[in-house]
Amino acid sequence: MLVKIILALILICILTAVTQIGGVVFLIALFTFRIIDDRFDRRWVRVTTKTASFVTLYLVFTFVIVPLAAKPFGRVPLPIFENKNLKPANFLTCLLNRNYVKLELRDITYKVAEDMNNNFPGAAVNYLDANFPFIDNFPLLPHLSHNDGKKLDLSFQYNDSGTGQITNNIPSFIGYGICEEPKDEEENRPEYCEKKGYWQYNWLRNNVSQSNKDKFTFNDKRTKELVKRFAFYDGLGKIFIEPHLKARLGLTSHKIRFHGCQAVRHDDHIHVQLK
Ligand SMILES: [Zn+2]
Repeated sequence: MLVKIILALILICILTAVTQIGGVVFLIALFTFRIIDDRFDRRWVRVTTKTASFVTLYLVFTFVIVPLAAKPFGRVPLPIFENKNLKPANFLTCLLNRNYVKLELRDITYKVAEDMNNNFPGAAVNYLDANFPFIDNFPLLPHLSHNDGKKLDLSFQYNDSGTGQITNNIPSFIGYGICEEPKDEEENRPEYCEKKGYWQYNWLRNNVSQSNKDKFTFNDKRTKELVKRFAFYDGLGKIFIEPHLKARLGLTSHKIRFHGCQAVRHDDHIHVQLK
């Protein structure tokens, strides 16, 4: 019995850390587990039914209840399939409730994505990790600052290397870790930070598979436009992109800052945040 309780507590902690609401959903599911234990004798039937019960409850909470419940707390979900100009780079972002932002940031992102598509027909904006739906200062691991609804990561813009055409796919499955690296003559902050002992700065670059990298070509023009369009909005406070890309793209907005060696490299994605 004690082992079961400890295992359940560990599971609740993991679910909470990864999805914020998963631990609470598991506690609610425990009520259904009792009914299932009373109804079914065979162990495999009980395990399967309990798993199905938890998954069903989790999906109902994630896609029906939480979007409604988060609104009074000032956060709204970014679109899953409903906006052709703005989409998650990976559906897991939505499944794990990592796609919540303040309404102002969603409005800005919608406008930027629409403008991008108007200027470059066929181009969509891919978003990565945003924030959880509830509670300021609740960390969205492994990010340092995505904890208040004001932060959002975005993918760069790419072309398909084979066809030379716009693609709305991205090279990295998780959205991070495949970098538009500094050229020889450019400032090399990743190397500088690593030499200073910040091992985490390049960790994703060194551990994510690079096998898709050659299939994609970084598009300077559209990526520059994407950053500029975010910088245009008064409510937008800061943008993080690696210094060599800021220089290469000729970006001049004072909102574009260096994020510091204690963060991770930003030549695989762009970070934007509200004031
Ligand atoms: Zn970020």
